[in-house]
Amino acid sequence: MSKPLTDQEKRKQISVRGLAGVENVADLKLNFNRHLHFTLVKDRNVATKRDYYFALANTVRDHLVGRWIRTQQHYYETDPKRVYYLSLEFYMGRTLQNTMVNLALENACDEATYQLGLDMEELQDIEEDAGLGNGGLGRLAACFLDSMASLGLAAYGYGIRYEFGIFNQKIVDGRQVEEADDWLRYGNPWEKARPEYMRPVHFYGRVEHAADGVKWVDTQVVLALPYDTPVPGYRNNIVNTMRLWSAKAPCDFNLQDFNVGGYIQAVLDRNLAENISRVLYPNDNFFEGKELRLKQEYFVVAATLQDIVRRFKASKFGSTEFVRLDLSALPDKVAIQLNDTHPALAIPELMRILVDIEKLPWEKSWDIVVRTCAYTNHTVLPEALERWPVDLFQNLLPRHLEIIYEINRRHLERVGKLYPDDGDRLRRMSLIEEGDVKKINMAHLCIVGSHAVNGVARIHSEIIKDTVFKDFYDMDPPKFQNKTNGITPRRWLLMCNPGLADVIAERIGDDYIRNLDLLKGLLEFVDDDAFIRDVAKVKQENKMKFASHLEEHYGVKINPGSMFDVQVKRIHEYKRQLLNCLHVITLYNRIRKEPNKAWTPRTVMIGGKAAPGYHTAKLIIQLITSIGNVVNNDPVVGDRLKVVFLENYRVTLAEKVIPAADLSEQISTAGTEASGTGNMKFMLNGALTIGTMDGANVEMAEEAGEENLFIFGMRVKDVEALDKTGYDAMSYYNRIPELKQAVSQIAAGLFSPNQVDLFKDLVNMLMHHDRFKVFADYEDYIKCQERVSALYKNPKEWTKMVIRNIAASGKFSSDRTISQYAREIWGMEPSLEKIAAPDDPR
Ligand SMILES: *Cc1c(COP(=O)(O)O)cnc(C)c1O
Repeated sequence: MSKPLTDQEKRKQISVRGLAGVENVADLKLNFNRHLHFTLVKDRNVATKRDYYFALANTVRDHLVGRWIRTQQHYYETDPKRVYYLSLEFYMGRTLQNTMVNLALENACDEATYQLGLDMEELQDIEEDAGLGNGGLGRLAACFLDSMASLGLAAYGYGIRYEFGIFNQKIVDGRQVEEADDWLRYGNPWEKARPEYMRPVHFYGRVEHAADGVKWVDTQVVLALPYDTPVPGYRNNIVNTMRLWSAKAPCDFNLQDFNVGGYIQAVLDRNLAENISRVLYPNDNFFEGKELRLKQEYFVVAATLQDIVRRFKASKFGSTEFVRLDLSALPDKVAIQLNDTHPALAIPELMRILVDIEKLPWEKSWDIVVRTCAYTNHTVLPEALERWPVDLFQNLLPRHLEIIYEINRRHLERVGKLYPDDGDRLRRMSLIEEGDVKKINMAHLCIVGSHAVNGVARIHSEIIKDTVFKDFYDMDPPKFQNKTNGITPRRWLLMCNPGLADVIAERIGDDYIRNLDLLKGLLEFVDDDAFIRDVAKVKQENKMKFASHLEEHYGVKINPGSMFDVQVKRIHEYKRQLLNCLHVITLYNRIRKEPNKAWTPRTVMIGGKAAPGYHTAKLIIQLITSIGNVVNNDPVVGDRLKVVFLENYRVTLAEKVIPAADLSEQISTAGTEASGTGNMKFMLNGALTIGTMDGANVEMAEEAGEENLFIFGMRVKDVEALDKTGYDAMSYYNRIPELKQAVSQIAAGLFSPNQVDLFKDLVNMLMHHDRFKVFADYEDYIKCQERVSALYKNPKEWTKMVIRNIAASGKFSSDRTISQYAREIWGMEPSLEKIAAPDDPR
């Protein structure tokens, strides 16, 4: 038997990884050594692994520069419509390999580093993740940037350059401990500070209404310093920009009013201003009404809109003598997409610019705003919807509060005319919620201030029309759209699973990377024994590699012959990691009861971060690790069942574990997961899905055929019916003996022998106030898992189902999603054309 190919050898197999021509390699080596010497100021006797990483990163970066400048020059000259994607999160992960992949430099760099006696994969592992996101919403923004560049759109991502991204998760004694993510400690080779484009952002102060208009005065100023990161398209020579703002105190910060000893204190107090961009709020699908967070939201919006208006005014057509466009042409030249309500202040801020600064009439300004802005909703969970206390606004953004009141006055006037004598409707549709504390409903502001509102999967878009935003839908049906989420096939196949990308390319060529629908061509090979063998072999290799990774870094030994059953996502009650736990305990009890039966061996891996203040989520992590302690050390069970908690789940870990997964757990209560994107990554990487009819799972089942997924549990209508009659967890508990046994074992401390009542809050929740109805789906879930185990015993049939899934995953490319946003919301046309390549560094 021949030795399996290393990743390096595999990359050489196909052209999609770029040519490793002798000249390319010689140039790369030369430039690598030049950077080691001139940029890092080291020689090879004293250079560290990190120096080598930076030398390689800088060498690769040089290939972006000419393309970046050329692309921006091209946009200046052709003045296309621009799209601005505003997001408080960009969950980018690492950049080096992605750049090499998109620029076709991977093979050449691999060869160059190899000839220099270095291991490229080892160098890549030194790069910190840019963890400027919590989960799906932030990762979606990152996938969209890749697709917008790959589709030749003049697009910009605008956000905050958090000094600390999502915390690093350590598991200590089975519990989550948070560590600060100091990702910039060693410097970031991918960003370029642009202090010359610094912009002022105002806070606090008061409003003066004078004859010549409204003035916002006596404000405190914080400067927004932009850092640009290049976003290369896939092999089209386009390089777009992600601009992230960092907060800087002005030089005279607090020095106007210095008292005794005021100078030293004033310099120390600069931190207060600069705290705005210090840290990402670590909540996923949860609203926390903190003033600093509101400051972050206004900070990114205010700085970005100044940039947008400046660029519009400076644009070739905007400033020619012949065609002087005034701001009423803004919607023809600019689209602003709001990633959830987090950047909702763009709406009143743009009104403030047009009305107070540009002195345009209100009606005209409002027309410009609505035609420019569009809003994406990401959740219907009430605890996630932003509702800011009016008092906070009054203090921090007094003029914006006035503008919002005026928007609301005119909005309610319109509602009143359309629905006379319907006071309850006025109350429901108001931007202002009365009550103990008056609050601003940011989703309502976004709907009113946008020309398009979209959900992120078909079922979710229907739910928002039928429930949370029904009144708004009734008033303006065409405003409501669907844009089913997607993922970029560059990072989530080509980059993370080169083996699978290759066996696919061997059958259908490599065009599928730009046009993922071509994966349908694999259906021709479902019965092809050689292809089945190749797909199964790649999966086995990925599993072995992940198993060694776990053993090397965590000392965890797993059986690579077992089924890898994976649930990785933020820990949240609605995602129902607890349902997975109940299945594990049930399997454990069954194996112990009949130890001699031919059980399908499983390694259940669960990973994800809990928001630091989310008590229940943290307990769920503790339960998972505690079950692992018992199950993994039971000699009766052996290696037929293992439970592993994957520490510090993040983009880089997703790239390692997803290609190794056999089974993808997507088991949220129907109607709660807006779309999911993890589900799509698994499908594309050859895992089968066990899931509920929720989010994009519904469309995955439609694309692949429901018989090719393991669908179980209540549908949305069943959940609604249960809500009507009242969900009674005890009825399931008393009727289903294995459920009763599992829950009793948790309650009795089987998994927490040193603290018998450790999980009493969890058990109490499950039995008496479970909003997500875990027990109602237990029985069907267990039965469905039995079908999973049975099919896994037949590797050939399993792999055929895997192939049918991969072949059906084309819809879930973010290229498709972005093409729909471009055509149906932004009024732009995507293109796969290349622009001319510049001379690369020699
Ligand atoms: C894709 C992704 C997510 C989203 O996963 P869901 O299962 O859709 O919630 C979260 N975190 C990371 C690191 C991801 O890559």
